[in-house]
Amino acid sequence: MKPQLHGANVRARCPNCGGALTTFESAANRVEYGAIQVDHEHKHGGYDFNRIVYQLMRCAGCGRGGLAEVHCEDHFSKGLLDSFFPRTIEQAPLPEAVPKGIESEYREAEICASVEAWRAASAMLRSTLEKALEDSGYKRTHWQRISTRPRRMA
Ligand SMILES: [Zn+2]
Repeated sequence: MKPQLHGANVRARCPNCGGALTTFESAANRVEYGAIQVDHEHKHGGYDFNRIVYQLMRCAGCGRGGLAEVHCEDHFSKGLLDSFFPRTIEQAPLPEAVPKGIESEYREAEICASVEAWRAASAMLRSTLEKALEDSGYKRTHWQRISTRPRRMA
């Protein structure tokens, strides 16, 4: 799920809360954490706006900080959320038998993809696939299976 603006808060997955869907709040006890406002007429996503607000936020679960970039007219809560930090990703489930080295490389590929570093993500996925093949007994030169030992991955 992509982060979404809900009133003055953002609903997003928090990496510090194990990827749980949580609310990042823009204020505590009605006092805002702080924001930078840039006023200028512009178009974004096909709509007209007159300002960009960079709003500090805080995870309601663990307290981790966040930053929302919202394009809006007069009211932040009626704006369009353009980006949100921390970047959050939904991790693909992997079988428990996947070796830790291969899993960590795959997770790094997911992180690259989450920041739209497509070439880096592709390179990491290719490397992950090569290591998975080698771990399953395939030879790198022609990717032919040379071992008769059972596969470690399901
Ligand atoms: Zn959190």
